[in-house]
Amino acid sequence: MIERKILQEEAQAMAGQLVAWRRDFHRHPELGFMEVRTGGVIADYLVSLGYTVQRHVGKTGVVGLWAGDRPGPTVMLRFDIDALPVQEENETEYASQNPGVMHACGHDAHTAIGLGVATLIARHRQELAGQVKLVFQPNEEGHGGSNGAPAMIADGVLENPAPEVAFGLHVWNSLEVGYAIVQPGAMMASTGIFTIQVQGQGGHGAIPQHTVDPIVVASQIVLALQTVISRNVAPMQPAVLTVGQIEAGSAFNIIPPTAKMMGTVRTFDSEVQALITGRMEGIVTKVAEAFGATAKLEFSEITPPLVNAETPTALVRQIAEEILGKNAIVPSEPSMGGEDMAFYLQKVPGCFFFLGSRNEAKGLVYGHHHPRFDIDEGALPLGVAILATAALRYGESIH
Ligand SMILES: [Zn+2]
Ligand SMILES: [Zn+2]
Repeated sequence: MIERKILQEEAQAMAGQLVAWRRDFHRHPELGFMEVRTGGVIADYLVSLGYTVQRHVGKTGVVGLWAGDRPGPTVMLRFDIDALPVQEENETEYASQNPGVMHACGHDAHTAIGLGVATLIARHRQELAGQVKLVFQPNEEGHGGSNGAPAMIADGVLENPAPEVAFGLHVWNSLEVGYAIVQPGAMMASTGIFTIQVQGQGGHGAIPQHTVDPIVVASQIVLALQTVISRNVAPMQPAVLTVGQIEAGSAFNIIPPTAKMMGTVRTFDSEVQALITGRMEGIVTKVAEAFGATAKLEFSEITPPLVNAETPTALVRQIAEEILGKNAIVPSEPSMGGEDMAFYLQKVPGCFFFLGSRNEAKGLVYGHHHPRFDIDEGALPLGVAILATAALRYGESIH
């Protein structure tokens, strides 16, 4: 059995290095699929430790493989490395030097934690049964419309060797540093995006009888869509349908020929999602038809729901309790937000958990994606200790 206490002490001892890494990535944020510098820093460091390294997996991702001295399963650890199109408003010495781009979600912390875990795994080769596959993933945020996780899967990240389990974490600014949320089951929603095109017939704003007004039709569709969640989805099933964007018209006295709407659907269950999109299809086409217009619905799933498996989650919870204390693991409602770690967890059982990074006393309270987002860096060694212990203990506890 790997000594958790030793790993914890070693993670704590590298706190300064973890902060230095995190601040370096924070100063040099890169948008999704453009993480060239970030990927280079990661790959060079993994090579220096002796990892077998693949660059350019899923465009700008990096994979590091480490084999232990004894045979055993392959454990995958995933860290996302991309930043967001946000102009940073913090005035720290490590603020973003890349205008309009910022690590506003904490993926700089994830990347630093990944390098810390890599260090500890390499140091404990003789205690490792099996392989550890470190997956540094680009574009979790879906910049440009597609995500990093499916790109890495398409490039074979779940093969040669195939991981038996996958672990990952997110620093979490809704939760004080020193606490964690580690729960089995559905933790984050599926994210779907839809577009509705309404085709009417334009004309003069004062002569509506000779037109089919797509703005009126779009308005009817928006209202009718509100019944999908309230009247079709079972009351105990969480689901959201939001029309977030309406585009139509060019002047106050013109009835435009078309209207376009975009929005999002969130669920925790693929059957509920199918029910919603089926009802949307019927409402969109039939409401338009009733008003003499036509309308077309396009729906695509960005991320599936994120579901944690029982056994790996119990292992992470046990380790988190040992490291943070029994009362530091707090219950939480699942989030309607999405996370592309879900793509791996669809294929490989695993656990994605949330590590507190808020510090009320220090004013580190801004939410993810906010221009003043910043974290308590005390979370870094805690994340390293939990994930390194999980990776090293998995082979021991399951086999
Ligand atoms: Zn984010
Ligand atoms: Zn994130």
